[in-house]
Amino acid sequence: MSLSREHAAELSADTVVVAAGRPERAHDEAVNPPIVLSSTYYGTGALGDGDRGYGRYANPTWDPFEEALAQLEGAELPGLLYASGLAAVNSALSLIPAGGVLVMPSHSYAGSLVMAAELAAKGLFELRIVDIADTDAVKAQLAPDDGKAADMLWVESPTNPMLGIADVRALTHAAHAAGAVVVTDNTFSTPLVQQPLSLGSDVVLHSVTKYLAGHSDVVLGALVTSNPEIRAELLHQRTIHGGIAGPFEAWLALRGLRTLALRVERSQASAATLAERLKGHPRVEGIRFPGLPDDPGHERARKQMKGFGSILCIQVAGDAGRSAADAADELVKALRLWIPATSLGGVESLIERRRRHTAEPESVPENLVRMSVGIENVEDLWADLEQALGSLDA
Ligand SMILES: *Cc1c(COP(=O)(O)O)cnc(C)c1O
Repeated sequence: MSLSREHAAELSADTVVVAAGRPERAHDEAVNPPIVLSSTYYGTGALGDGDRGYGRYANPTWDPFEEALAQLEGAELPGLLYASGLAAVNSALSLIPAGGVLVMPSHSYAGSLVMAAELAAKGLFELRIVDIADTDAVKAQLAPDDGKAADMLWVESPTNPMLGIADVRALTHAAHAAGAVVVTDNTFSTPLVQQPLSLGSDVVLHSVTKYLAGHSDVVLGALVTSNPEIRAELLHQRTIHGGIAGPFEAWLALRGLRTLALRVERSQASAATLAERLKGHPRVEGIRFPGLPDDPGHERARKQMKGFGSILCIQVAGDAGRSAADAADELVKALRLWIPATSLGGVESLIERRRRHTAEPESVPENLVRMSVGIENVEDLWADLEQALGSLDA
């Protein structure tokens, strides 16, 4: 590829998203990588480690995205692309030895929690659920006085959907002291806002579906690590579990990545503006956004993130005529520009009441609405919110 890892390390991340993963500079070579549609590759001799061999082992269309992700996360090895974020979660969980211990945030992505709980219920490992923002509580579960030390610490920060902020550096330090591998789900932040490897994590996870691809038209996941043994094990798991990316999706993800810096810059700025305005609204009885100076996670977020992301959550106030949960549902229905849909990280602003998902933990308030701020004009987004909030009083 034309951008080396050494050169990328000298460039700003907003340049790397544009320049990474392009083909070598040769006369008349295309400036974008091709989509390679082939389930097998020519070969005669014994298949070695670096060989492509078969379509489930490797596809040249994955390589530019995997290299770009490594350059953005500051990893020493190419990333690994998966069929979905959850396929990547599954591969990461496979690093836990049989009978081992996983420590996981109570407000992890719901699918990750369900998967971990089901695997634990089958007896594959022990699952300890923690409040990841409570550093001492997590430390106590990593190395309990009277129990087994943890084998893996799962980190999500900000958490989904409560937007709690973990002290990632302190936690990775404690986890390593206990002998645990640290996996950080960096989906909400993207490598432009937070670089977990530099904070001590061993593995970074992305639902590429969200910000990295960025257009709500692709489902993909990825893992990144600088540890050669871990990467070899993950690659093996991906190959035998078969949760691989389709070439067209991989190509779309790289195409989406080109504008990541512009999208993140815009949506973060809009989220900050909207959070400030929503905070004072009489129909908003609670708000979580780490960018607000009085948010409990603000100081930590300021230290370990470049910006505060573009997800915010509000709790909608009910009234004599309706419950707060009903008011939240009505708010979502009254919007004309915001799209009522799950997911996040796309160019379009999405909103949903989280507890409409039956898997959502009960510790998430019934009236909590998660908002993924897109790249539309912020005044249009605000006007729509204002009219929908106002309609609750009509
Ligand atoms: C969406 C999401 C996932 C799961 O990714 P899929 O691509 O939907 O499989 C994992 N973690 C977080 C934080 C997510 O938002």
